[in-house]
Amino acid sequence: MGGLPPDTIVGIDLGTTNSCCAVVLGDGEVKLVPYKGGEYTIPSIFAVDDKGNELVGHDAKRQWQLNPRNTLYATKRLIGRSARDDVVETVQKSVQYKLHPGERNDVELDVQGRAYQVQQIAARILAKIRDVASDHLGFKVARAVVTVPAYFTDRQRQAVKEAGALVDLEVVRIINEPTAASMAYGIGKKLQERVLVYDLGGGTFDVSIIDIRDRVFEVKATGGDIFLGGIDFDEAIIDHVTGDFQDRTGIDLRGDPVAMQRIRDLAERTKIDLSARTEAPFSVPFITMTPQGQPLNLDLRFTRPLLEELTRDKVDRTLEIVRRVLDDAQTAPEQIDQVMLVGGQTRMPLVQERLTALFGKAPSKGVHPDEAVAIGAALYAWSLQENSDLKLTLLDVIPMAIGLEAAGGQMHVVLPRNSPIPNARALAATSSVDAQSELAVRIFQGEQQQAAHNELLGEFVFGGVRSAAAGQVRLEVLFEVNVEGILTVSASDLDTGKRMTTVLRVTRNG
Ligand code: AMP
Repeated sequence: MGGLPPDTIVGIDLGTTNSCCAVVLGDGEVKLVPYKGGEYTIPSIFAVDDKGNELVGHDAKRQWQLNPRNTLYATKRLIGRSARDDVVETVQKSVQYKLHPGERNDVELDVQGRAYQVQQIAARILAKIRDVASDHLGFKVARAVVTVPAYFTDRQRQAVKEAGALVDLEVVRIINEPTAASMAYGIGKKLQERVLVYDLGGGTFDVSIIDIRDRVFEVKATGGDIFLGGIDFDEAIIDHVTGDFQDRTGIDLRGDPVAMQRIRDLAERTKIDLSARTEAPFSVPFITMTPQGQPLNLDLRFTRPLLEELTRDKVDRTLEIVRRVLDDAQTAPEQIDQVMLVGGQTRMPLVQERLTALFGKAPSKGVHPDEAVAIGAALYAWSLQENSDLKLTLLDVIPMAIGLEAAGGQMHVVLPRNSPIPNARALAATSSVDAQSELAVRIFQGEQQQAAHNELLGEFVFGGVRSAAAGQVRLEVLFEVNVEGILTVSASDLDTGKRMTTVLRVTRNG
């Protein structure tokens, strides 16, 4: 496929389990980039084989069962996270690869004795997508709009930008996945609708309520859980299967990475089968041996009602979040014109039934659940190009409050959740001791009352404060969030007008 200028911006959906790329062609038509002429998605998996070769995508997935300790998957769940985050421990329990705290209060991953930062893995996946797109388009792709879960914090967004920079891919803009999906649905239809995007993918859940007025996409409210997705449904099946096996044989399979990988593969396949039928076998021959050397098989039957029983709490949780977002947008279910389903896990009949019951109508079939995000990203990318006649207005929101740590450790909210972006808010501060030369502010993002229970975005230190008695220096601290949901903080001395430099420190033990 030729004819596009080399500065063309592509759209990339960097997913937890699968990634996808799309581009708008010269005639304004949007196309998904095929991989080797076939599939449109690339597994978001990275591995190093025993010869030291790095593998990404299908090549990594193919050898996963045999090399589970050196095959990294679902690493998007760890991006931009600090090592002390509770979720890190939860991830470690469910994956066969090893995690450890990194140098920058982040998480590092061990593969064949080498440590990788999470950004480096995201960078390799982005590079793979870029290379596939470059081969297909006939020039080296250098610019992309990349989507992230709406519920990503500032820090997680920064990490995705950094991943692009590591492989010379300019991430021109970060946009939210549900917002991208709404653009795939709404562009070119001259709509006046309020839609709810329910996005349940491999690793994350997002919900956004978006007003579409022709080419204006205005997010009213968003919510989500970046730790709730298809993988957790698989995990519920795995727990059941291993528990049942242990009850019957006394053998715990959890310590055997190869057996666990075989169970994990089959758990996902069984879950997917049960979206189309009501019963499926769950058999793995020679899963292990008795202490006497007798081979043992796994042999169960799964039914759709059993799967629903095992995963109902997860679907309940998504519905709880939907209700909160409806409240935040002051919208009754009847006021939603369309419910859009995005993400592979929304194919589960229980999900669709529950949404139908809540909204009084079946979800829309208006977008393809696996492709809408990449398509929306490509359309938005096209609108940013100089030669484009597509003009879009995107008004998004921040998913969680941004604030600072006040006296007593309380979170002082500067921008509440669902504040529109771009946005700026100024805050007055005074010096608290005589001859204070620095003002230090710890910035957090999250909904907890205690600042320390939220995500630390960084410690900003404003140096060069004018020497004066306590309370005499009046400072203004300015919080600015750009269209991507990324924060910058600056400060000025109100008496002298002097603007001060900011230094961001993400502390090791922060
Ligand atoms: P995504 O991140 O959108 O690619 O979503 C992938 C997730 O959707 C994975 O956890 C898949 O197991 C899950 N998935 C894909 N197809 C189905 C299906 N037919 N029924 C249930 N889950 C599915």
